[in-house]
Amino acid sequence: MKRRSLISMLQINCREASELISAAADGELPKRDRIALRIHLVLCAACKRFAAQMSMLRAAMSALPRSWRGCWSDETAHLTPERRQAIKQLLAQANDSELPS
Ligand SMILES: [Zn+2]
Repeated sequence: MKRRSLISMLQINCREASELISAAADGELPKRDRIALRIHLVLCAACKRFAAQMSMLRAAMSALPRSWRGCWSDETAHLTPERRQAIKQLLAQANDSELPS
C-alpha cells in the first residue's frame, strides 16, 4: 500500500470541502478534516463564501422561535410527486421558449 504524504492527506477539493462544511454544522470534525478544511478555506474564496453563508443560515435558523423550526423538518423539505412534475413542466416550457427559432 502506497503511503500518502502529510500534504496530500490535507489536500481536499471543493466537493470534499463543502461536505466537511456541512458535516461541521452537525458536529465536531476529526482533527485531520478540520486542518484540511482550514487550509482549503484559506486558499479557496468560493468555499470560504459557502462556509460563511452556511454559518449565517445556521445563525438565522437558531434565531427562529422553537415553534417555527419544526416547519423545516425532513418531511416538509421534500416535494410531492405532483409538485415535482409541475416544476419539471415549467422548466421544460421555459427551456423551449428560450431556444432560438
Ligand atoms: Zn473550494
